[in-house]
Amino acid sequence: MTLPIININADLPSVPRSGHFTRQFWQALGEGRFLLQQCTACTALRFPPGSICTECPGSETLWTEANGRGTLYALTTVHAGPPALMRDGPYTRAIVDLDEGVRLIAEWLGDPQARFDTPIELVVTRYTNGCLFGARSLAA
Ligand SMILES: [Zn+2]
Repeated sequence: MTLPIININADLPSVPRSGHFTRQFWQALGEGRFLLQQCTACTALRFPPGSICTECPGSETLWTEANGRGTLYALTTVHAGPPALMRDGPYTRAIVDLDEGVRLIAEWLGDPQARFDTPIELVVTRYTNGCLFGARSLAA
């Protein structure tokens, strides 16, 4: 499933590093796909990408594509921080539970009054110098 892509005419203040364990994730994200790692030993899914399983000693993984849907677990708005992060004022982050059972933090692009368990979708935010991902309320 291809995620919605939101083009933002600005630079990211800090471009995410792309390394051995994350290169494939960032490349897919730029194409509108959100990848999770799956342990080949115990089949656990995980995010962010890493070198070893969080559930067993396994170190071999496959990539699997998330459907981009889930539910809102929590929201928090940050009102103070380093200047590079505060250039656009307060920002909101969401903790979301993906349908695949993975919990992650994302930029929140939805209603700041959204409630626990609100259906969400992941989106790609494409800046002039790289991509990130966010979440927003799923349109009814
Ligand atoms: Zn495992």
